[in-house]
Amino acid sequence: MKVAIRDDDTSYFTRPEELERVYHDVWDRVPVCLAIVPFAVGYQRVGIPPEQWYSSESFPLEGNPASVGCLRSLIADGHATTALHGYTHQDFPDGYEFEAARDPERRVAEGLAHLNRVLLTSASIFVPPHNALSRRGLAAVSAAGLNILGSFLSFRPSHRPWDSCTARNWWRVARFRLRTGRTRQDSFVYPHVLRYRRHAEFGCHSLIPGTTADRLIAGFEEARRDGGDFCIATHYWEVDGAMKDVLLRVLDHAGRYNDVRLVRAEELF
Ligand SMILES: [Zn+2]
Repeated sequence: MKVAIRDDDTSYFTRPEELERVYHDVWDRVPVCLAIVPFAVGYQRVGIPPEQWYSSESFPLEGNPASVGCLRSLIADGHATTALHGYTHQDFPDGYEFEAARDPERRVAEGLAHLNRVLLTSASIFVPPHNALSRRGLAAVSAAGLNILGSFLSFRPSHRPWDSCTARNWWRVARFRLRTGRTRQDSFVYPHVLRYRRHAEFGCHSLIPGTTADRLIAGFEEARRDGGDFCIATHYWEVDGAMKDVLLRVLDHAGRYNDVRLVRAEELF
């Protein structure tokens, strides 16, 4: 069984010490997949200067040499890997970036090129901002050959481009729902990779304020019973002492099994 960690929202605005604060005693055990915003537009949250909350100005990652240097070292040391997390991560009046932007194809291509060039890496994963993808957004990501790490709680064929694998995947998810006694209304994370013609998808368990270790461990155990894998998704900027404690307790729990491997998120695919 494989267990991985994904962390979202690293960008121009991220100071190296913010990542260090949360992961200094984690990334020796398991590399953290940093889902990075290549051309971040500011919004209202801790860690982003208030003068950028509504400026609509976009900040290329390479404009912050301290962060770039830190990220390159983390990657070189095997402490982190990189995923593409949108392009600007901005919200539009009619939806999140990869639901509402009129040019998702350009955003994927330019964002990926920037990330790979600036960080001397080769990202293979896309994490949708707010875990939200329109049918066209998904098609753009799939066309670029990127795998998707989401936090998908449902599977709606009507919300995705159809390919030869869609029906079989729908059926796999439906059978999981049945054997775990859930109805269509119940949320869950499907614990196996879903492969499509040009990409694959895997769902993560969110660690946000209020998430308990018991809840995540229940998700881990359910994945384990089903022969699946497990990935936690969180945001460094909201990880406080309580959330960090939850993260460590879940990793400790997983580490008690001989057959559990803590892996790079890329290995989930
Ligand atoms: Zn995000």
